[in-house]
Amino acid sequence: MAKQINVALIGNPNTGKTSVFNALTGLNQKVGNYPGITVEKKEGICKLPRGVKAHIIDLPGTYSLNASSLDENVVIELLLNKNDKDFPDVAVVVSDVENLKRNLLLYTQIKDLEIPTILVINMSDRMTYKGIKLDIPYLEQKLETKIALISTRKNRGIDELKEVIANYKELSVKPCLNASEIDTDYFDKLRKAFPNQLLYKLWLVITQDVNFGKVDRNQIDAIHSFKTKSEADLKRLQQKETIKRYQFINNTLKKGQTIDLNSAKDLRIKLDRILTHKVWGYLIFGIILLTIFQAIYDWSSVPMDFIDSAFASLSEWTKHLMPEGAFTNLIAEGIIPGLGGIVIFIPQIAFLFLFISVLEESGYMSRVVFLMDRIMRRFGLSGKSVVPLISGTACAIPAIMATRNIESWKERLITILVTPFTTCSARLPVYLIIISLVIPEGRFFGLSYQALTLMLLYLIGFGAAIVSAWILNKVLKIRSKTFFVVEMPNYKVPLLKNVALTVLEKTKSFVFGAGKIILAISIVLWFLASYGPGEQFNNAEDIVTQQHALDNLTQDELDQKIASHKLEHSFIGIAGHAIEPAIRPLGYDWKIGIAIVSSFAAREVFVGTLATIYSVGSDEEETIKNRMAGEVNPILGGPLFNFASGISLLLFYAFAMQCMSTLAIVKRETNSWKWPMYQLVIMSAFAYLVALIAYQFLK
Ligand code: GDP
Ligand code: MG
Repeated sequence: MAKQINVALIGNPNTGKTSVFNALTGLNQKVGNYPGITVEKKEGICKLPRGVKAHIIDLPGTYSLNASSLDENVVIELLLNKNDKDFPDVAVVVSDVENLKRNLLLYTQIKDLEIPTILVINMSDRMTYKGIKLDIPYLEQKLETKIALISTRKNRGIDELKEVIANYKELSVKPCLNASEIDTDYFDKLRKAFPNQLLYKLWLVITQDVNFGKVDRNQIDAIHSFKTKSEADLKRLQQKETIKRYQFINNTLKKGQTIDLNSAKDLRIKLDRILTHKVWGYLIFGIILLTIFQAIYDWSSVPMDFIDSAFASLSEWTKHLMPEGAFTNLIAEGIIPGLGGIVIFIPQIAFLFLFISVLEESGYMSRVVFLMDRIMRRFGLSGKSVVPLISGTACAIPAIMATRNIESWKERLITILVTPFTTCSARLPVYLIIISLVIPEGRFFGLSYQALTLMLLYLIGFGAAIVSAWILNKVLKIRSKTFFVVEMPNYKVPLLKNVALTVLEKTKSFVFGAGKIILAISIVLWFLASYGPGEQFNNAEDIVTQQHALDNLTQDELDQKIASHKLEHSFIGIAGHAIEPAIRPLGYDWKIGIAIVSSFAAREVFVGTLATIYSVGSDEEETIKNRMAGEVNPILGGPLFNFASGISLLLFYAFAMQCMSTLAIVKRETNSWKWPMYQLVIMSAFAYLVALIAYQFLK
């Protein structure tokens, strides 16, 4: 059997690790999470020369081995734990040729761990433009390693890199500098106390507050008890260590690298000046955002309509083809529409991530983050929260997936929790029909009341998101580093391969991650709506036919009456009746109750359910509206949908967490049921309260 070797890709953020990973593994990759935390774990397989296979991990970007974030912990824990099944046989440090000095700090630290290490210098295509020249043999000798000078963009040097990885046994494991010179006595004592341990590992354990849970606990306690220096002294020593490393790097680069400063940097500076400008910057970003979301609406509507009708036909077709019965109904009315409810999200997810990854790849996103950070930070959000919050106006599903770019866990969690407040497109059909029923048609300074109401609802959505972010920021006790953008990457034309893989991977992770839950809940909801206990449900046909025996109804009208009767006596119908006492103070009756319960599948189902209950065909919007307008409040008399109950419903839908798909994606992205359940309970309770107050106040 061919031996498989473990390779870990390590490096500063934005050096091209993921690009190298993509170049090495192509489509042989999978993305998961590290156990228990939500840091993304990318692994893949690469075939090396001479039949060697490599298992490659793309580790999170890290500036050094002095951990300050969740992501960096992952890297350290792996490198210190020889028993981890992913422990690398060879570490590949990816650096970018334009920032060698900063990148090499991490490299020298990893060398101290005495793992065979390769230095990849990526983006070699930028060297001529930047006037950079490297003396590779000299650098290899000084840095005690093999260097692969590559460009993933131009696909240069990848084969050579594979060759070097395959020959990893020839690599030196010698550190390239002696960091223990910063305090020789202390390190000698350490070495004597733990003769079998790597000196640098001891040092990391002593100086860091990392969760070394996976490393042998007894050992760690023993090492910690050896802390003979005060915290302040240790801090000072750490600073000395960093200075020492930079001295070494500076000396090495003085000879190994020459930079001809006459090369052009102008374009970048000019672009930065405009794109991060106090006025133009926001304006340009606003225009780009608008264009993107317009495009998402426009471009997705075609495939979404297609998916919608394709699944409807498939369901029809299955019904015709298979023998009548419960099993056929399960497939045709439960499973197929359930799958359709998953696939329908794919166009929006794909388009959003197409744009996001182009913005990221081009380097523009870093400017946006820089711009928006100033504002968002005040609310406990990150500059990167802007994209999810705005994308939420299309749909919360892709929006919540887009929070993965936020490095700080706390900011990411807050963004995930508040995004469902933004008005997604599924609320629109509900808003539109209720607004047209209860808001008068007049105009106010040329603006129609109805349009103003709709706009107000959007603003309320954003407002609720921002305010709750601010509150969560105060309430949540999560220690998590906020990320400062140290350096802005250069502008680049996006790599098609990276963009394509991002889109593919996001779509896959939605379909297989959240898809399962969505399918399960939609089957349950289908079951509850299509079955019921007792005579009224089971003999619906006979009962309704008898009731209307003298009414001279067409077959269509009769079918609609039967469907309505069945829904009323199905389990969901019973639930609708059961919650009536609770929702009557909000101005609703049991019919609205049924519509609320079923719209948990997706908010827009509200209108269709009412259509079924009022036994009108669901495509005739005017008829539904007329029917709704004619409904009488069973207790108070007068129209059921009046100003008070209409506003109450609008507010309820603005705030309630009425969407199983969102809950599913939040579960997937936070890796626990805790957060989606909080969302469900708190948002729904709040929605109830607001709707209650509104109705009682207005009625
Ligand atoms: P990571 O953060 O380390 O995973 O880096 P990525 O792989 O996401 O790449 C960061 C940026 O560098 C992206 O915009 C890439 O398109 C770009 N990039 C990656 N490799 C190259 C390269 O060889 N040449 C150039 N010019 N840009 C590259
Ligand atoms: Mg990456």
